[in-house]
Amino acid sequence: MKPKMHSVAPNATQVRQRVLSGMRPTGALHLGHYHGALKNWVRLQSEYDCFYFVADWHALTTHYEDREVVEKNVYDMVIDWLAAGLDPELATIFIQSRLPEHAELFTLLSMGTPLGWLERVPTYKDQIEKLKDRDLATYGFLGYPLLQAADILIYRAGFVPVGEDQSSHVELTREVARRFNHLYGRESNFDVLAQAVLKKMSKSDAKAFEVARKSFQQDGLETALGQARALIAGCEAFGAADRERLEGYLRGTGKAILHEPQALHTEVRKLPGLDGAKMSKSYGNAIAMREEPAEVERKIKRMPTDPQRVRRTDAGDPTRCPVWQFHQVYSKADTQAWVMQGCTTAGIGCLECKQPVIDAIKKEQEPWRERAEPYLSNPKQVHWIVEVGTERARTVARETMRDVRAAMGLTY
Ligand code: ATP
Ligand code: MG
Repeated sequence: MKPKMHSVAPNATQVRQRVLSGMRPTGALHLGHYHGALKNWVRLQSEYDCFYFVADWHALTTHYEDREVVEKNVYDMVIDWLAAGLDPELATIFIQSRLPEHAELFTLLSMGTPLGWLERVPTYKDQIEKLKDRDLATYGFLGYPLLQAADILIYRAGFVPVGEDQSSHVELTREVARRFNHLYGRESNFDVLAQAVLKKMSKSDAKAFEVARKSFQQDGLETALGQARALIAGCEAFGAADRERLEGYLRGTGKAILHEPQALHTEVRKLPGLDGAKMSKSYGNAIAMREEPAEVERKIKRMPTDPQRVRRTDAGDPTRCPVWQFHQVYSKADTQAWVMQGCTTAGIGCLECKQPVIDAIKKEQEPWRERAEPYLSNPKQVHWIVEVGTERARTVARETMRDVRAAMGLTY
């Protein structure tokens, strides 16, 4: 075990909130994936109990006709993750399709989820528009945000790191959880059970709790909610299940079987591709995380620059040049100033200007290549990491499904 595990206080791991995120194995990861998502994943792994999964079923929602793509990229993507610095001792890494529990929860949730909720997800119409060459008028594609909801809810994740465009998916997940708890969280004897829990409190505290609960439920008084919660928190006789039941009793929501997650907004920038548009493998403008250095050099050298700077002696305008966008990500202030000055006065040529970007990207890639090396030469190690992660995830998923089945009356 690595020393950093020991620096975590014994019970700190228990209270660490869970973060869940996934990526679709549809190709080699590129610099955009690193700057837009992975870098953040690496940062989160030491603060949260992170669950990161290979979303192979999600890949099939758009790539159902090309199974080789998904098949080829599953373990390769995990190698990219490890190369970026994910530590399998800190984060749980697993493959979605190895856990049929996701599909079971998806099916059960689908029964009560209104179609309109899915049709209204903004990315639904966008993507259908964007990916016109694929037939996405499928049941699976419409349902994928619900599958995502199942992925999140099954691990009772507290946080989901998302970019702006994905917020609506977390919102849908919250609605689905709320609806589920509302439909199935109210056991017929819920209030009786809650009052039995209250008996573990001192008489005066229990009385104060009831007063606060009524004033919250009748008048919506937030201060009363706070008082009641403080009483729950202060009672040492309660276990986790007691606290949860009283929280549901207090808010009038019943038992929370599925937990509402929150979106974890982090500032990530959109990385442009070689042509200035967003870097994406489908646009053919990407540099892979583990692209060969010679290839990086070739790609950058061929990048278009300010179209109006035709001759070396013409002054250029960086704001019209995609290389400048790379400088904004990769170069320090002094280099940026050198570019700005040199370009606008025709003091430097475009190839000269590109060199610091080439150097910076190659340097960024070095540790990735180094970390990937042992995994590439020993793929069994990667399989083992995924194996361990999958079993860890399964323990949690099974527990949730037990509660879900019981709540829905599926325990005969
Ligand atoms: P691609 O867009 O290359 O085809 P993909 O569609 O399989 O890849 P996405 O789902 O678009 O993958 O991206 C996975 C994650 O990486 C998302 O969190 C997304 O925001 C991030 N990401 C992808 N491309 C970029 C980029 N150019 N800049 C910043 N973040 C990006
Ligand atoms: Mg994309």
